[in-house]
Amino acid sequence: MSSPVSTRAGIVVTGTEVLTGRVQDLNGPWLADRLLELGVELRHITFCGDRPADIEAQLRFLKDQGVDLIITSGGLGPTADDMTVEIVARFCERDLVLDNALEARIAEIVTGLMTRRTGGPLANAEALVAANRKQALVPTGAAILDPVGTAPGLVIPGTPAVVVLPGPPRELQPMWATAVDTEEVQSAIAGRTTFQQQTVRMFGLPESALADTLRDAEASVEGFSRLEITTCLRRGELEIVTRYEPQDAESYSDLLMVLRDRHARAIFSEDGALVDDQVAGLLNGRTIATAESCTAGLLAARLTERPGSSTHVAGGAVTYSNASKTALLDVDSSLIEQYGAVSEPVAEAMARGALRRFGADTAVAITGIAGPGGGTATKPVGTVCFSVALADGPSQVRTVTRTMILPGNRTDVRERSTTVAMHLLRRSLIGDLDVPELA
Ligand code: ATP
Ligand code: MG
Repeated sequence: MSSPVSTRAGIVVTGTEVLTGRVQDLNGPWLADRLLELGVELRHITFCGDRPADIEAQLRFLKDQGVDLIITSGGLGPTADDMTVEIVARFCERDLVLDNALEARIAEIVTGLMTRRTGGPLANAEALVAANRKQALVPTGAAILDPVGTAPGLVIPGTPAVVVLPGPPRELQPMWATAVDTEEVQSAIAGRTTFQQQTVRMFGLPESALADTLRDAEASVEGFSRLEITTCLRRGELEIVTRYEPQDAESYSDLLMVLRDRHARAIFSEDGALVDDQVAGLLNGRTIATAESCTAGLLAARLTERPGSSTHVAGGAVTYSNASKTALLDVDSSLIEQYGAVSEPVAEAMARGALRRFGADTAVAITGIAGPGGGTATKPVGTVCFSVALADGPSQVRTVTRTMILPGNRTDVRERSTTVAMHLLRRSLIGDLDVPELA
């Protein structure tokens, strides 16, 4: 849904390495977030390789769409395949002129880099500076954004205004902040609206049930059509992002009431916080250990991604074979024989074993069948057992153990397993286990 007053933007991500998928695009999503914060409506992100005709075609396309602002990423380096500035200059019908001050600045940076790398000035520094002269060619009337690496960025005023940024994310990100402050960008986005954005997260609710609720909300919530709602299913969680103008805040609260009313048990976050953040907060003062088989350490990786994890994550064991479950986690081999490695008794024994082995007071175990060929009639692929063990005193251990059958291929089952484990952990820590999807 577009608002008639909002400013519109498009992003052109260039680079053959990004087009072919060898490098995953980080700049498009990052810039998309920044534009959203500014209240600028992003209409398109386009990708192309380092071919002049293709870059030009995308600039034309975005102009034809009537965007007010185009941001390009990549192609500012000194090498021959970096041609963005030349193409943008032609597109904006501006001549390229050598900026002497900028050239001196780039020479300074390059010489400094070389000196630092080699411990002294280089004999071929001159040649390097000449190669970088290309980077000092600026379209007339453009604002220059100081280099973060060696390449300067540019803002070319006009309709649309064009912001030219380097490809490496560590250069692009600080330079965008500088670009936004220029008069050229400010005047291009002058008509922007301020948007609010809220995120609700749910777990254990099928997307179809949410779709039903939203259909009903459409009839019952006044101003529903002015809420821009995006729902997305990720790792078994539903994410509902709603964007609206400040005057429609009441419609959003009404929508939230409907969601709470219908799906109170499934909602675990109303402020956008991820379950990983919530678990990190709930572990406050506790130490956690993991015992994993089919997820091979992915849960430990997730738990250690949060800042401060070094204070609450003790460690984890990946016990793939039965022998390693016994050797590392003291799982009784007769238990494995009797119930199988993928079973609730073994999951629980793994969690208890991890508690002891790592001297932790909280442990999570995952044992399951993620890969093709590992399933049986009673335990198909996707069968995963989870156990959380909480030590409340030296001899008092509570365990919460569940089995689920998760859909998808090996990657899906593994990812989903870490999410289920996070939710089981969260609910164990807040003492709320009366939920059907984890029954
Ligand atoms: P350089 O001076 O480093 O050549 P550049 O502006 O010419 O900078 P590119 O040549 O397009 O940038 O990209 C250089 C490197 O930056 C790429 O090989 C890639 O590693 C990284 N990079 C470029 N674009 C992206 C992107 N959209 N997302 C993530 N990384 C990127
Ligand atoms: Mg380059």
